[in-house]
Amino acid sequence: MTQVQHVQVAILGTGFAGLGMAIRLRQRGMTDFVVFERAGEVGGTWRDNTYPGCACDIRSDLYSFSFAPNPDWAHRYARQPEILAYLKRTADGFGVTPHIRFHHEVQEARWDDEAALWRVQTSQGEYSARVLVSGHGPLIEPRWPEIPGLKGFGGERFHSARWNHGADLRGKRVAVIGTGASAIQFVPEVRKVAAQVTVFQRTPPWVMPRMDQETSGRRRRAFRRFPLLQRLSRQYVFGRAELQHLGFISRRVGELVERLGHGHLAAQVPDAALRQKLTPSYRVGCKRILVSDDYYPALLQPNVELVTEAITEVQGDEVVTADGQRRSFDVLIGATGFNAARPPVARIIFGRGGQSLAHAWAGHLEALHGTTIAGFPNLFLLVGPNTALGHNSIVYIIEAQLEYIMRALEHMDRQHLLALEPSPEAQRRYSDGLQDRLRSSVWVQGGCTSFYLDENGRNSTLWPGRASAFRQTLRRFDPSLYRARFSPRRVPPILPDAVASG
Ligand code: NAP
Repeated sequence: MTQVQHVQVAILGTGFAGLGMAIRLRQRGMTDFVVFERAGEVGGTWRDNTYPGCACDIRSDLYSFSFAPNPDWAHRYARQPEILAYLKRTADGFGVTPHIRFHHEVQEARWDDEAALWRVQTSQGEYSARVLVSGHGPLIEPRWPEIPGLKGFGGERFHSARWNHGADLRGKRVAVIGTGASAIQFVPEVRKVAAQVTVFQRTPPWVMPRMDQETSGRRRRAFRRFPLLQRLSRQYVFGRAELQHLGFISRRVGELVERLGHGHLAAQVPDAALRQKLTPSYRVGCKRILVSDDYYPALLQPNVELVTEAITEVQGDEVVTADGQRRSFDVLIGATGFNAARPPVARIIFGRGGQSLAHAWAGHLEALHGTTIAGFPNLFLLVGPNTALGHNSIVYIIEAQLEYIMRALEHMDRQHLLALEPSPEAQRRYSDGLQDRLRSSVWVQGGCTSFYLDENGRNSTLWPGRASAFRQTLRRFDPSLYRARFSPRRVPPILPDAVASG
């Protein structure tokens, strides 16, 4: 008979979300938890995305846990290897690495109502846990467009999120499909080595100046010596990022931002015809606003071509566009984003009555506070529905969720609860309230389509307010929004000192 290992808390994934949860538990003195990681190292999206030029487009000041500041970011916008190193270091430093079960792919997590436990089947055996925390964000599963013949492309083909470092791009003819946050970071790099790069653009993005720079040694030393200085700097950058939210909610501020975008384009692209192709025809903010100083200049290079005709099919090594033109390539790179509106984790989680999360979300995604879901007791989602931001750091959102989850666990311990889940009414009210705000927002009415929207045009991805408003909403755990199942006998607490501290 195979052994089932029991833990109080099982966590899925080791990106910022999963690691953050593990760290908060360790900080509370808890050791009875595991973190499942399908790969052999931590990092989540920052491990998987390794394309040339990969960097964060949120200021590095904001891209760390508040409880684990990094005074040593080398640039204003941290590069992927630095962020990955930060995550590894932080996992080690907070003592959570020994809790990580590497090469454990979670195949299924099923709620056992009788035992009030999650039964987690992994590629390396079965576990049971009282509480399941999913740290799977929405940007996991690469998405390829439905283009006839694409799968049969005759040359090398890969997605930006699964970069094939074995493919030698030197002297090659490279096709890039997509012009989102990923493409604009790697196109300037790829064109330096490739013979020819052809960028297939469907919708031009709004691109703002990035103004990246190396951080000075003086600044780093000062942050190391006086952590308060770094905290103040972070507060300042956070406040400025929060102000950018005005661009989403005020048409007048949005127009000012558009003027900045037009100015950036005019300054970098002297050719009127090319400028025309690159000018967005939808309101700024409708899609994620991009920052780059080298994307437009890359498009001006003699070995780069921007194609705006739609791709109709792929035949062998040729990409055919609507105007009948055929172009041959050695390599085709999909920079076509992720299945954010249909997160894959929903297919492996089964709640009360054996219902899968994918089934519960068949119409649309919703979760109370983006974190808990009716019918799925003792399940907590990090970066769940309507938690993403267009203007500020997701790490801030994750931390707000971590505190909320800790409060929920404390509540469970204080009340000796076996199980906790939001009432369907509370969840619906919360979700409807968000949709009321989103319906008239730039993300829905701004004249574009984006990965924020599902197939019905509903935005189940973004939080509509400022980041600080999200934290404010989650600052208190309100038991009246929840359904609780009490234990007939005392159950051991989830958190070691929760009862004492409550
Ligand atoms: P994305 O923003 O979803 O962009 C996908 C691109 O593919 C879009 O330009 C889309 O065009 C295009 N596309 C899709 N199907 C196409 C087709 N048939 N023909 C031509 N073009 C097609 O994906 P992403 O660039 O990977 O970025 C996804 C998200 O990842 C970002 O928004 C961000 O949240 C995250 N990210 C973050 C960073 C960071 O620095 N923090 C960096 C990279 C990515 P349409 O616009 O017409 O749909």
